[in-house]
Amino acid sequence: MWFKDLDKKLKELKINFKTDEPLSSYTSIKIGGPCKRMIFPEREESLLKIIDFMEEKGIPFFLLGGGSKLLISDRGFEGVVINLCSLKKREIIGENEKKIFLKILAGTRINEIIGLGIKKGFGGIEFLGGIPATLGGAIKMNAGAFGYTISQLVKKIKIYKNGEIKIIDSTDSLWEYRKFKESGIVLGAELELKKMKTEEIKKRLKEYLEKRRKMQPLFEKTFGSVFKNPASSYAGALIESCNLKGYQIGNAKISEKHANFIVNLGGAKATDVLKLMKLAQERVFKKFGIILEPEVNFLGCQL
Ligand SMILES: Cc1cc2nc3c(=O)[nH]c(=O)nc-3n(C[C@H](O)[C@H](O)[C@H](O)COP(=O)(O)OP(=O)(O)OC[C@H]3O[C@@H](n4cnc5c(N)ncnc54)[C@H](O)[C@@H]3O)c2cc1C
Repeated sequence: MWFKDLDKKLKELKINFKTDEPLSSYTSIKIGGPCKRMIFPEREESLLKIIDFMEEKGIPFFLLGGGSKLLISDRGFEGVVINLCSLKKREIIGENEKKIFLKILAGTRINEIIGLGIKKGFGGIEFLGGIPATLGGAIKMNAGAFGYTISQLVKKIKIYKNGEIKIIDSTDSLWEYRKFKESGIVLGAELELKKMKTEEIKKRLKEYLEKRRKMQPLFEKTFGSVFKNPASSYAGALIESCNLKGYQIGNAKISEKHANFIVNLGGAKATDVLKLMKLAQERVFKKFGIILEPEVNFLGCQL
């Protein structure tokens, strides 16, 4: 088995790690069995070295950001979870009269970027306020809300792929609905935000959070929207039309507040969530002939 070699390498690179770590604590829906190792690289250099090592040895690994768009199997993952949340840094690299430019590492939380903006007087990313995501995860998913997406703020993206670091300019062709099309590990990005008065940023943040609180089960255990919105409709409205709001399997339930959210009432299993997803897909297809495509990412399980 690869554990011995890996542990030795991790110690050599001074990367903290945990053994048989339950993944439920690291996902917003609080579901997921253990992984063999969870590693916490704090520096880009050691992250790249350990990735090269794992690729060379054929050790399976998975990238974890804020865990807010993930459904992980109850059996867990027989490999290494790279927890990127320790890889964080936010740095102002330039400004002009109206704008401010930042270089940010992938593991930085979106809420930390908003917090820095409130202190230093820049904004434009408040539409993502309240989402427990990292910058890397938000880029990978092209996170968006209220008509805005993170792609509109990203200028450059730093990626690690096939043993090479690439810094690419953000162009429209790289993005689609809830997707960054380039593969590889997002190490960080440069963002362009607007200079704004602290009071204005706080006001906008409050308005967005209020809207979210009204529309979504913001303070419950979920992974955000379950399905992508089909081209001409809303997944939530379609599921609601099938009378599935409040439908429960095991301890997982289709939210009463928003039918495109599944809530873990406590102790729900990944299999309960998958059954609910399947049911919603089947009912919507039967009634409307529309195939709902999952927005959530899976680890160790699938629909
Ligand atoms: C209450 C709530 C509200 C939400 N509201 C919204 C919303 O309004 N809009 C929206 O778009 N989303 C929303 N989400 C979903 C979620 O926050 C976003 O999809 C977010 O972008 C996921 O980021 P993360 O860091 O948590 O990624 P994770 O869930 O950790 O990972 C998501 C995927 O990205 C990959 N990944 C993570 N980091 C990297 C990296 N650095 N490089 C390469 N791949 C990586 C993972 O392997 C995984 O496949 C919501 C979630 C919750 C719980």
